[in-house]
Amino acid sequence: MDAKIKAVLISIGSIDIDASLVGKIGMSTAGPAAGEKSIFFRSGGRRVRLTIDHKSPLHAALDGEDIVILMDNRELTRGRIEEELIHCPEQAYITISERCIYDCKFCTVPLRDGKIKNTKEIKELVEVAYHTGLLKAIAITSGVADSPGSEVERAVEVIKVLKKYNVPIGVSVCPAANSTVMLKEAGADEIKYNVETMDRNIFSLVCPGLDLDFILEALEEAVSVFGKNKVYSNMLIGLGESDETVEQGVEELARIGVIPILRAIDVHPLRSKEITADRPSPQRLLKLAKITKEKLDKYKLRVDQSQTMCLPCGGCDLVPQVDL
Ligand code: SF4
Repeated sequence: MDAKIKAVLISIGSIDIDASLVGKIGMSTAGPAAGEKSIFFRSGGRRVRLTIDHKSPLHAALDGEDIVILMDNRELTRGRIEEELIHCPEQAYITISERCIYDCKFCTVPLRDGKIKNTKEIKELVEVAYHTGLLKAIAITSGVADSPGSEVERAVEVIKVLKKYNVPIGVSVCPAANSTVMLKEAGADEIKYNVETMDRNIFSLVCPGLDLDFILEALEEAVSVFGKNKVYSNMLIGLGESDETVEQGVEELARIGVIPILRAIDVHPLRSKEITADRPSPQRLLKLAKITKEKLDKYKLRVDQSQTMCLPCGGCDLVPQVDL
């Protein structure tokens, strides 16, 4: 699987695969893809995550020990299925609160009113992952059950307890007053505050109640507290933003030392009446990933220094400096 094929797979985002070919099937509990079952496919040093959908134009078949991915009866690539640990391979990526007081129009978490895991439950999950011998990192994320501040307090308590596993810990939450310092002091090694989009008009429509300027200020502070190559932010692609807006947004983030993660939009059927979005084409994904790579190089940011969350996983994105 080269970068072009990975772009095709991400653009489609799903695969028709028989359950017998899959080991442990994962279900996402956080973010836009919450509630979807997916597989991780690895080939040529690259990884892709695909949602299982029996109507997908991509089909998986077994050929010897290889999983072959076909489209229109033509082989696109072959490789192996990777088992996830918790949410993704090699990491325990755990969602604290599977609910949210906000109403971002691309996200199903607010519609699910899911549970809030306590610290003991999370520690038990990580303990099991640790004893597999495969745990390379821990990542903690959360919706906002009550307020960003109380969610940060939950994350702080969890991170303190998980330090004993002696693996890098990443945290991705909604920023709150003093959240960066609190999370760093608790023991987090890397942090992600998502801007979701750098198109301000679109932001105000799809993220009502959130403040992009506050998130950007938090990101800037995070770079001064966590350091270079340790601060990240997701930008969704396919909300109607132009390539120019994406490029300007990537430049703005990279200039302050933040590594942007460009994420193809995936609108769940539960949200399809509330938002118009277009999954980006493979060509657009490649173009924007190349632009991001140029910006990262320009500001001397290094994706391969990242140890937790989405950059080392790479399942959902074309990762600049890694995939191309
Ligand atoms: S890239 Fe991020 S969101 Fe996607 S599967 Fe990996 S860890 Fe999860």
